[in-house]
Amino acid sequence: MEIVDFRSDTVTRPTPEMREAMAAAEVGDDVYGEDPTVNALQEKAAEMMGMQAGLLVPTGTMGNLASLLAHCNRGDEVIMGNQAHTFRYEAGGLAALGGVQPHLLTNQPDGTILLEDIRGAIRGDDAHFPVSRLIALENTHNRANGAALSAQYTQSVADLAHEHGMKLHIDGARIFNAAAALGVDVGELTSPADSVTFCLSKGLCAPVGSLICGSKEFIYKAHRARKQLGGGMRQAGIIAAAGLVALEKMVSRLPEDHRRAVELATGLDTIDGVSVEDLNPKSNMVYFKLAGENTLSPEELIKAAKAKGVLFGHAGGGRFRMVTHYWVGDEAVKTAVEMISAVVSRQS
Ligand SMILES: *Cc1c(COP(=O)(O)O)cnc(C)c1O
Repeated sequence: MEIVDFRSDTVTRPTPEMREAMAAAEVGDDVYGEDPTVNALQEKAAEMMGMQAGLLVPTGTMGNLASLLAHCNRGDEVIMGNQAHTFRYEAGGLAALGGVQPHLLTNQPDGTILLEDIRGAIRGDDAHFPVSRLIALENTHNRANGAALSAQYTQSVADLAHEHGMKLHIDGARIFNAAAALGVDVGELTSPADSVTFCLSKGLCAPVGSLICGSKEFIYKAHRARKQLGGGMRQAGIIAAAGLVALEKMVSRLPEDHRRAVELATGLDTIDGVSVEDLNPKSNMVYFKLAGENTLSPEELIKAAKAKGVLFGHAGGGRFRMVTHYWVGDEAVKTAVEMISAVVSRQS
């Protein structure tokens, strides 16, 4: 039985071209700054983001944490959304390792934080207060169904941060999906910010790796933070080679994943007993619920679909998430709709 895996775009395996590039990669000791492939990847990333410099890190989580450590001192405050990945899913690293306090504001359903909420959260100069150091946004926003934040919104938040002597960091794990969803150059979404983290290992299919980009001064600090966190790798050109293929070949095909998300949503919506949240998915994520007479528990639905070779996740509260990516083509979308239909219609 063929397995079609819609759990996440993190399940993507490297493409044959990536494996070839990895095998042939020129390498050196990156802790000495001597790996030419890592250096090429960092330069390419910085150029695409419209920033001065880049830094390869093993994971997006380390990218966000090293960025926060580079921007903040202990006791400083970072303003972020209450649905932010960094707050919910990064094991409290900012507090545990940085002594940084998150100041949480409500994320709107579109993933933004209201400008007036941010303005109201910025502290004045008073010895009682923590120092408001940083604002962090997420683009695309995972918990907002993969919604993309516009360049204009990002610029407004950056302006607000800079007016108050603060910095803006973007958790852009899926920033290229945001650019594809909005039909803009990725640099328009990142250049207003002071730093960005993005993942090579999600929709871009590389096996490992994320990048941090920002000013030379910021990357200098992030480089030390990466070392502290144990993220200084040696012949990392093996990883960077796949990353270069990701940036050169995989970015421009992301609209295909978004088209398939629409097709998947449309297909699922034809199933009696399935209710799709948004027939026009915001990027590569489709959310649905069981509706009507269904008696399946979330665990039962996932198990029954898995038995038919279709994998997806439970996002909590009876909501299911399916993520499109390179390794699920048109056939996989058809299979998923057929199999979920077979499982659900047996119930009703
Ligand atoms: C995946 C993800 C991360 C972290 O990436 P890892 O490489 O899994 O550590 C950070 N932020 C967002 C929004 C993500 O989706």
